[in-house]
Amino acid sequence: MHHAEANHPDRSNEEKTNEPKKQPADIQLHPLPVSLRRFEANATVTTLSKQAATPIIVAFGDGIGPEIMTASLRVLLAAGANIAIEPIEIGEPVYLSGETSGIQESAWKSIQRTKVLYKAPVTTPQGAGLKSINVTIRKSLGLFANVRPCTAYHPFVGTKHPNMDVVFVRENEEDVYAGIEHRHTDDVYQCLKIISRPGCERIARYAFEYAVSNGRRKVSCFTKDNIMKLTDGLFHKVFKEVAADYPQIEHEHWIVDAGAAQLADDPGRFDVIVMPNLYGDILSDVGAEIAGSIGLAPSANIGANFAMFEAVHGSAPLLAGRNVANPSGLLLAGAMMLSHIGQTKVAERVHNAWLKTIEDGIHTFDIFSEGNSNQEVGTEEFASAVIENMDRHPSRFKPATYKKRLPGVAKARRSPASVVARKELVGVDVFVHWRGQQPRVLAETMRCAQDTDFELTMITNRGVKVWPAGQDETLKTDHWRCRYMVVLGRSVCHSTIADLQMRLAYLGVDFIKTEHLYNFDGEPGFSLGQGQ
Ligand code: NAD
Repeated sequence: MHHAEANHPDRSNEEKTNEPKKQPADIQLHPLPVSLRRFEANATVTTLSKQAATPIIVAFGDGIGPEIMTASLRVLLAAGANIAIEPIEIGEPVYLSGETSGIQESAWKSIQRTKVLYKAPVTTPQGAGLKSINVTIRKSLGLFANVRPCTAYHPFVGTKHPNMDVVFVRENEEDVYAGIEHRHTDDVYQCLKIISRPGCERIARYAFEYAVSNGRRKVSCFTKDNIMKLTDGLFHKVFKEVAADYPQIEHEHWIVDAGAAQLADDPGRFDVIVMPNLYGDILSDVGAEIAGSIGLAPSANIGANFAMFEAVHGSAPLLAGRNVANPSGLLLAGAMMLSHIGQTKVAERVHNAWLKTIEDGIHTFDIFSEGNSNQEVGTEEFASAVIENMDRHPSRFKPATYKKRLPGVAKARRSPASVVARKELVGVDVFVHWRGQQPRVLAETMRCAQDTDFELTMITNRGVKVWPAGQDETLKTDHWRCRYMVVLGRSVCHSTIADLQMRLAYLGVDFIKTEHLYNFDGEPGFSLGQGQ
């Protein structure tokens, strides 16, 4: 039931180890740069002396990162990966040096040159003002598609879902991960959910291209478009448009909560699932865990020009330095990377040796269980066992085949809906910081700002209509949205809104922001108030 896909991009790297056996004979070892001294005890930079080794940037990461990256590189090189490793430092040490982005300019230059990054997990700093390096890298390099295969390895790894073989394709740049957040009042904060048509189109197309390239039969889309009709509605709509270009692939849509319940109960009914960023982030972790262990799942981040390969899991600080972490997720991500750079045969060797090791019951603690396992091993010993199995094939699992590279980034086809729409300004929402409790009182003030162009039509609190005619029970915070609509027959423009703002300022209204309301080709580009 296992199938290995030719996931993505290509190539891989090197290794350092204090185990002299199993090193490819023609590897040249060089001392690590000073910046990686913490890793020096058992790390070296390695290149193969064959011609045309593909340069790969390697980040050893934080927590368990250095251990699992070391183990993974040992295996990749033992399999014959023709790669030139270039280590960079990102994460904790860089944050501690005062670089709030967690990555230095020199590291960006290296990535720009090689286009491929193999990255161990990084600890996300808690401090205010420090940005997540993972999100920064994905967005800076335009890595819009996050591909996470989650496969059960029954009966060798315990799982309630022996038939699970699902690939999650998560949109990687938009949604609430745009990171646009504001505090508006004493009580209320907001995070903007940004969904774009080109963003939807390329992730949907990527999911279908992936399905075609990997012999998958169905693509499912999860959204919450019954609630977020404009943003998730767009994702769903574009998914359907793109699906029409792939009649050979079945497609379906689930409301995310119902889809998630089905996924948890019967993942065998899904094949490829494409989702906006947040749902994909959460549910692909769930998928990895219910398949067997989050320690097993690889992840590829693909863009038009760059690619990054990593494990799904994080830096597991409590396991760090104990030689116990499972390196499998990062190792399988390395196989995806080899496929991405065209070294598909090496990717297969790695993957099949790994499958054989899992079948042999040689397991790290996270997947060890009496009955399924024969021997509990540490990180390094696991890597050694995979190397021992090089060129052996699994007997129970279907051998992995990496037939072709992952699909590249398919050209978006401009659909009719993406032509410039006729945009008409029909109103304005004014958000107000006000500590009162009686919407009627606020309405009296806000109506004083009306003129012949605008009429106050509604006030909501946290999206629920409280004027005219709200419910007494509705919780009222200090954050009010006051909707003015353009009076029938009047035509307004930006300066009319500026005049409205001037009148509000004159009245002493503490307005936090205004949001313009447009119709696009006659269709409202804004949602109604709840209860309206
Ligand atoms: P985590 O994935 O590090 O750990 C979650 C659980 O899974 C823990 O119980 C851990 O022990 C276990 N686990 C994780 N990897 C394992 C492995 N290889 N083998 C065995 N068990 C494993 O998640 P977390 O604890 O929420 O996050 C720790 C740090 O990692 C945080 O700073 C977080 O922001 C960061 N993080 C980084 C990435 C990344 O770099 N891509 C991804 C997720 C989290």
